[in-house]
Amino acid sequence: MNPAAPGPATTPGPATTAGLSAPSAVLEAEHRELVAAFESFVCRELEPLAAELAESAEQPPADLRAYVRKRSAALGFYAGDYPEELGGSDMPFTAVVLLHHAAGRSGCPLAPYALAGSDGPSPLLRHGTPEQIERHLVPLVRGERTRCLALTEPQAGSDAFRLTTTAVRDGDGWLLNGRKTFVSNADRADLALVVAATDLGDGAGPTAGATAFVLPMDHPGLRIGQRYEGMSGEPLFELTLDQLHAPASSVIGGEDGIGAATGLAMDSLSRGRLVVAAMCDGIAEYALRLGVEYARERRAFGHPIGDYQHVQEHLVRTRAEVEAAKLLTLACARLVDEGTEAPENAALAKLTSSETAVRAVDRALQVHGATGWVRGHPLEYLYRYVRMTTIIEGTSEVQKVIVARAMGLG
Ligand SMILES: Cc1cc2nc3c(=O)[nH]c(=O)nc-3n(C[C@H](O)[C@H](O)[C@H](O)COP(=O)(O)OP(=O)(O)OC[C@H]3O[C@@H](n4cnc5c(N)ncnc54)[C@H](O)[C@@H]3O)c2cc1C
Repeated sequence: MNPAAPGPATTPGPATTAGLSAPSAVLEAEHRELVAAFESFVCRELEPLAAELAESAEQPPADLRAYVRKRSAALGFYAGDYPEELGGSDMPFTAVVLLHHAAGRSGCPLAPYALAGSDGPSPLLRHGTPEQIERHLVPLVRGERTRCLALTEPQAGSDAFRLTTTAVRDGDGWLLNGRKTFVSNADRADLALVVAATDLGDGAGPTAGATAFVLPMDHPGLRIGQRYEGMSGEPLFELTLDQLHAPASSVIGGEDGIGAATGLAMDSLSRGRLVVAAMCDGIAEYALRLGVEYARERRAFGHPIGDYQHVQEHLVRTRAEVEAAKLLTLACARLVDEGTEAPENAALAKLTSSETAVRAVDRALQVHGATGWVRGHPLEYLYRYVRMTTIIEGTSEVQKVIVARAMGLG
């Protein structure tokens, strides 16, 4: 899934919460220069490009996305946490999280494409063979290519590893058959990361383990099927694997990767969820800024609507929730930098931030009345866009299951 642009091409403003100070800034201090450099890039280079987009174009064209990715990589922002020898900038994870936050907060529809998301370098490939790292991961880190992840199946969503797509030994390689669904970026990707249940040859049958394969999108037997139009303009796709012969060299991690996909994927979940949390915190902050600005200007019954306590309630509650969510995300990111990647931490942050963002956008739209409901207004788009964030990277309910288990429940 691509955590894509928060809003159609409309006026982004300065990257502050309506000029308010924020307690969470204390956790940003160390990376303030980097964040300021990114904000300057967004403001000077991306906003003018976004201003040229047609107001109705919710998804920037592929060539513009590619330009933004590569330019951002050249400046050291894109995939910043990857090592320099792979084309990254060796940034701490907290810095990456702050950049995603800044992208969401900017309101610039091109800013999210400047940072590696679910179509960028996959942590799965960090476990790749040296040849896979050189051939596949490095071009992804440099923003020269994109990929998609084909994990979900019609009967395997939250229960992601109950797969019916199978990989069976076929000479030196593997024979893959099955059907994947809800795959983002399949129409633009150069590569597909495909996860299949695997017969390990130990008599346990074809679903004993799961293996991840990296395949070019034009690999024979791999076909894009149905296209699903999403609520916010980003389509999803079905992928079919029909008698697909995958060479041994396509198993991520080589021989060690056979049957190991569940463990490898679990390893990368926490970071992915914290990135979604950061993006949500940024979107919530952007919505709050729009709400506060509007409440200061719009007049009703002879006063700015912000004078009324019912309106203040929407905005003050959002402000409290946004600050709390952001502090949680940043604290979890810092723990990752200190070597603690507890899945329940990321689950708490993703749950809190995504649900906060949904509420923040809803309330900001309410403050705008009909103005926010009209097609083309950033809040109208965000209202549709932000709804996916409680579903992607594990639903809110799945995050609660993770936290409950960590609490010794269930
Ligand atoms: C915008 C978008 C982009 C996506 N991109 C990709 C992609 O690129 N690649 C990919 O492979 N997939 C992708 N997906 C699919 C996504 O990963 C799944 O939608 C998600 O895992 C949920 O699965 P599901 O939709 O089948 O819901 P289900 O698993 O069927 O869940 C339905 C409901 O039941 C609840 N539920 C399920 N199990 C439990 C439980 N144990 N306890 C409590 N409640 C439970 C869920 O929380 C949910 O509310 C994308 C989805 C979206 C919306």
